[in-house]
Amino acid sequence: MRVAVISAEAVPYSKTGGLGDVAGALPKALKQVGIDAFLITPCYLQTKGEYLWHTAVDDLWVNWRGRSVRVKAFYSEANGSPTFLIDYPPLFHRDSIYGYTEDYERFAFFNHAALELITRLGGAPDIVHLNDWHCGFAAVELASRRNSDPYWRNTRTVFSIHNMAFQGGFGLGQLPSMGFTSEFARNAFSFNGYASAMKAGLEVSDTLSTVSKRYSREIQTAENGYGLDWLSRQRAGRLIGITNGVDYEVWNPASDPELPAHFSIDDLSGKLECKKALLEQFHLPMELDRPIFASITRLTSQKGVELIRQGAGDILAAGGFFIALGSGEKESEKFLQALRDHAPSRVGVYIGYNESLAHLIEAGADMFLMPSKFEPCGLNQMYSLRYGTVPIVRAVGGLDDTVQNWDAVSETGNGFKFVEYKADKLLEKIYEARFAYADKRSWAKIQRNGMSVDNSWENAARNYVDLYNWTLS
Ligand code: ADP
Repeated sequence: MRVAVISAEAVPYSKTGGLGDVAGALPKALKQVGIDAFLITPCYLQTKGEYLWHTAVDDLWVNWRGRSVRVKAFYSEANGSPTFLIDYPPLFHRDSIYGYTEDYERFAFFNHAALELITRLGGAPDIVHLNDWHCGFAAVELASRRNSDPYWRNTRTVFSIHNMAFQGGFGLGQLPSMGFTSEFARNAFSFNGYASAMKAGLEVSDTLSTVSKRYSREIQTAENGYGLDWLSRQRAGRLIGITNGVDYEVWNPASDPELPAHFSIDDLSGKLECKKALLEQFHLPMELDRPIFASITRLTSQKGVELIRQGAGDILAAGGFFIALGSGEKESEKFLQALRDHAPSRVGVYIGYNESLAHLIEAGADMFLMPSKFEPCGLNQMYSLRYGTVPIVRAVGGLDDTVQNWDAVSETGNGFKFVEYKADKLLEKIYEARFAYADKRSWAKIQRNGMSVDNSWENAARNYVDLYNWTLS
């Protein structure tokens, strides 16, 4: 089976969040279970030159706004699978990956170029696997083209929703100049008087998936459907949930090159060395019995920053250190900096994006906070489990699917989980975790329960293969 994975971001070429982790790892995992998979993603200003192995095509002609534009594609296997990076500087060499009013146009162009490239590469793929709103354009293009173009006749589309909150909206009037002139295309994009790339992908793709089982049900509710819950319900018979995997080659405490010491489920002693290094990094005192509560996140309301802000003082009252790595809403950034200034011997804050520090925090911390308002899958709770860092999460989306609440009587569970989106519910769990931490035997059991969980990509890849087979049947 031949599968083309198309994504707006993919590790190690680009990343702003979980989508990048997933799109980078999935094609490699698919190859390992015998699928002929390749990846297509843009080449950004942020993409390191060392990953651009060689030029695959330098004369790819893409029809764009009534003219033919010449585009280049680089080849790489830096993520472990064949990858083509579409290079078109006017649209993609910018200070950041997203955040421009014409983002819809940038990704529509990327979609056109990706499909053009596939036809240049030879045999048509059986499956084109599209990700999030950025790929809604290709879903429409393929749905129309396969009726008229024999090359695409047997190709089917899978559309994965990583976050329903981002929908790629724009004016319907833009469609014709981007090449979408048919009634079919207009209907597909039309949503409440404007155009939505997410809606189009959801409506016309052959099958749909979300990045956890629970999220596949949540997008069918008014609370998490962001106006498209009716369509998610309508298409529920073609929708499934597959929990993201973890790339254990990148996130493995036994071999992680970012760590000063290594550890595993059989010998946790290296974790203490990591805790020391983490305290040192933030100039915090070497009080090793004090638990470190940590957070690594985009500072947005999705991630429950309000609850973290309300709960931070209580973490300190409960006798913990608090370490946060993140960037986003200015008000939350200021809050964290003020908290550190208020308690510099108990709080460590790094505002910004820092991959290597994220690894050290996962390894050196004792508890990890993810009180998200909604969470399609969430990766950090899974990294935490593997690093013996006990997650404290809200029971939503992938967090609910991957974290089980600790039960002291049966000694089952790998974390602490609350339901209502309220600061006092988070606090209850913070205190419960603090209490469990004081009992070394229980704590070691919770850690081991988490470290033994297998969230590998191999499992997830097999589920995707089942999804592809279902799509083709
Ligand atoms: P989302 O995609 O919604 O941001 P996920 O939990 O799925 O959330 O994935 C977030 C990814 O981004 C994780 O790999 C996490 O470690 C990483 N990340 C988030 N913020 C930062 C940061 N400030 N520095 C380093 N890594 C970060």
